[in-house]
Amino acid sequence: MNSTPPPASRFAATSPGPDVSTPLASEAREHVELAHRVEATPRLDRPASTRIFVVANQKGGVGKTTTTVNVAAALSAKGLRVLVVDLDPQGNTSTALAIEHTEGTPGVYEALVEGADMDELVRPCPDLPGLTVLPASIDLAGAEIELVSMVARETRLDKALQGYLAECEEAGDRIDYVLIDCPPSLGLLTINAMVAGREVLIPIQCEYYALEGLGQLVRNIDLVRSHLNPRLDITTILLTMYDARTRLSAGVADEVRNHFGDKVLKTAIPRSVRISEAPSYQQSVLTYDPSSSGSLSYLEAAREISEAAVSRKPTPSEREV
Ligand code: ADP
Ligand code: MG
Repeated sequence: MNSTPPPASRFAATSPGPDVSTPLASEAREHVELAHRVEATPRLDRPASTRIFVVANQKGGVGKTTTTVNVAAALSAKGLRVLVVDLDPQGNTSTALAIEHTEGTPGVYEALVEGADMDELVRPCPDLPGLTVLPASIDLAGAEIELVSMVARETRLDKALQGYLAECEEAGDRIDYVLIDCPPSLGLLTINAMVAGREVLIPIQCEYYALEGLGQLVRNIDLVRSHLNPRLDITTILLTMYDARTRLSAGVADEVRNHFGDKVLKTAIPRSVRISEAPSYQQSVLTYDPSSSGSLSYLEAAREISEAAVSRKPTPSEREV
């Protein structure tokens, strides 16, 4: 018979009482604290005026779509009116929010290229009252080329969106937050988002080369600011796929915080299987597994976003990334 004591008794021998020093124990403690903080804020305050976020990073797979879906879900779960604009021809945002977007479904393409009224294109998200979506279908893939020869090609989304927001406001149904999910490129679709937006939210994946390419993104934002939209500002950086057990994640987080200072949300989104599973059930992680760490982190990130000052000056180091 094996007489080796089980691991628990080894710990008990050195630290009596509940152990709070192991990584697992501290993760559990943080989870409980996070759950308390989220519960303590049942509703978020409405902003003074509609805040329009561009969720951008020209790298693919860093968490733009996941962040758009779950921050939008979190804001609406806390009582706010939210519009998501899916500007990626892959339409993953539309999928995750259970909005039909098969080829030929009218959506953002019609608003951008054909100048259609957004009112006829925006759809309600079935699971989240207060959340509406302007879907993207594969038709949008052609828009990048079609826009090139069009009049006012950079400002078409801005025009459509401003018209729609004004209509909502007149109808007494003001939208509090707009989140625009960008494709992984710096082409005309992303430029349209940056002209329509006021704040840029950059998700940064806690992986090798996290900051690579960010200099180009920041320079493009500067260019759009000086030529097309003086009100655009990077206000929010969100660390995604954070793994508290690796030094790599902690190192990337430190580096990003050194560059972007207090624009980086205190909450980092953990790498979580529940977050990656949710879209295959056409759900946000908030509806798929409300008490999971992924859901709680996005709720906490949304709270930070809602409390952050709207306009902050860019830090000098941002330009040096
Ligand atoms: P992007 O829109 O920037 O291309 P996505 O949001 O689509 O990135 O994310 C890329 C992949 O990573 C997706 O499969 C998504 O489910 C997964 N993912 C995103 N965030 C997380 C996370 N926090 N934990 C685990 N998987 C994640
Ligand atoms: Mg995406």
